[in-house]
Amino acid sequence: MNEKVRCLIIGSGPAGYTAAIYASRANLSPVLYEGMEPGGQLTTTTEVENFPGYPSGITGPELMEDLRKQAERFNADIRFGVVTSTDLSSKPYKVVVDGGKTIEAETIIISTGATAKYLGLADEKKYAGSGVSACATCDGFFYRKKTVAVVGGGDTACEEATYLANLAGKVYVIVRKNQLRASKIMQDRLLSNPKIEMLFEHETVGLTGDGVVQGADLIKRRGQADEEKIHIDIDGFFLAIGHKPNSDIFKPWIETDEVGYIKTIPGTPRTNIPGVFAAGDVADPHYRQAITAAGTGCQAAIEAERFLTENNL
Ligand code: NDP
Repeated sequence: MNEKVRCLIIGSGPAGYTAAIYASRANLSPVLYEGMEPGGQLTTTTEVENFPGYPSGITGPELMEDLRKQAERFNADIRFGVVTSTDLSSKPYKVVVDGGKTIEAETIIISTGATAKYLGLADEKKYAGSGVSACATCDGFFYRKKTVAVVGGGDTACEEATYLANLAGKVYVIVRKNQLRASKIMQDRLLSNPKIEMLFEHETVGLTGDGVVQGADLIKRRGQADEEKIHIDIDGFFLAIGHKPNSDIFKPWIETDEVGYIKTIPGTPRTNIPGVFAAGDVADPHYRQAITAAGTGCQAAIEAERFLTENNL
């Protein structure tokens, strides 16, 4: 027989855990499936300096551990497992976990977050785990005193490059435009770091190396009269070019924008399906912060509680 739950939370970033805290304190007996990366993207970040309540900062993994413990304190049922498919065509909604077990849920909070993007080069796959990474904090350790490149010009790229500069001997930052998109404070940290060399208006076209990454082929000012082919010797190649929302398993039922971000009714976490709510990065193309994710997780749990009450569930 299928297990029935009143409130199913899918995903374990700040949105999911905050939803679990609020839902369990509202007696919804929530069940939370952690997904492939328990704790979400913050477990791959270093110092979090902008989450209110931590005046000296806190590491991403510690913050997520604190949020998980807080949810468990109110008996949220937190489980390992990945939701592999959904059927939201009728109530109760059906969700399959790990390709086997089906859960029937009266309400669902989708907080599946987003996943790092790659450039789409065949060489990224060829050297996956052999010099190509999308997580400096996970893999930076392997590049102590070596030379690495980071691709991207946003806050993530700045953060990753600054982190890597503490370990590596030299860090290239490859930016396709002639400017960074990152916030001023992050830019300043990057540009003032003597170990970091900026390669503005450069695109990566391939990676080279015998079994492991040993270099990258770049094109400078592609399409311009002074276009130039460049080769850099590197030991590691880090992607930091943004993220893709993890919404594919809901797409037959849930409306998304062209990128895949779940559409919610403005100012609320409500999706187009009654009783199904979206919180955190999976529904947020604009802010994508831990604190905004936590805020929308709270909203989603309050909405779930109201939905259950209004429908006598
Ligand atoms: P962003 O979308 O902000 O930046 C992505 C960067 O990658 C841009 O410079 C973009 O270039 C570049 N890029 C995208 N696609 C390609 C491609 N195919 N080839 C080369 N370059 C490419 O993503 P982030 O992950 O940096 O940040 C996401 C959000 O998270 C932001 O709101 C950011 O502020 C926030 N954040 C905050 C942090 C903090 O405050 N501590 C830390 C990390 C993230 P282009 O500019 O040309 O489009």
